[in-house]
Amino acid sequence: MKPVIKKRGIILNAKDYKDNAKIITILTEDGKIDLLLKGTTKMNSGNKKYTLAPLEVDFMMTESNVLATFTQGYIINNYLHIKDDINKSLTSLVMIEKIIAFCEHIDKQELFYHFVLKMFNLLDTYKYDFVVLAIFEIKLLYLLGIAPTLNGCNKCAKKTNELFLSINLGGTCCKDCIKDCGYDLDLNETKIFKYLYLIKLENIDEKFLKLIDDTNIDLSHFIDRYYEKYMDFYSKTKKVIKKIS
Ligand SMILES: [Zn+2]
Repeated sequence: MKPVIKKRGIILNAKDYKDNAKIITILTEDGKIDLLLKGTTKMNSGNKKYTLAPLEVDFMMTESNVLATFTQGYIINNYLHIKDDINKSLTSLVMIEKIIAFCEHIDKQELFYHFVLKMFNLLDTYKYDFVVLAIFEIKLLYLLGIAPTLNGCNKCAKKTNELFLSINLGGTCCKDCIKDCGYDLDLNETKIFKYLYLIKLENIDEKFLKLIDDTNIDLSHFIDRYYEKYMDFYSKTKKVIKKIS
């Protein structure tokens, strides 16, 4: 008998495989695993529902030397609001692309799992998908160990709240130093970046998300350039979304 293992995880995507089967990628507290899911393309297949990511599930798997198999599942969270809303749906794809790309770069897998879970719950619950994505991308920088240093000027070491974020500096500089360092975010944008970076996940609620949304500050271009410089990462998903929207 092959050993059966019970786990909990978030299904991130499903790719076609031979004989009506798919390979599903699941994030768990121990990292990411690929599992074989059989009989997913038949109309009446009970396994088809496990291919609609994201999905939080309890599941059983049997180990194998080649590819372990997903044998049974119990859905904990369907994230129906994400699936019913095109913007939330596209946002989840951008998040999943980064989760899969960076999962193996992260040391604290358990922390990462609960972070991802919380971010999908926020995306599912509230309408501010744009802000949720910014929080996800900014906080992920910390888990990747490439977050900018935000307390004080990184050039002259002055402690001040009047700071400007610079990509090249990988942190903030004061107004006396910006002529040497250059900057990519102004005072207000840097403040919002810092709020999003520092906010505790348990303190994020509708009021906070609305407050950020009302500022109309868009950090996405800065965030993309930051990922390009420090992770050499270019989002293919964002590129496709830009093309179709
Ligand atoms: Zn300075």
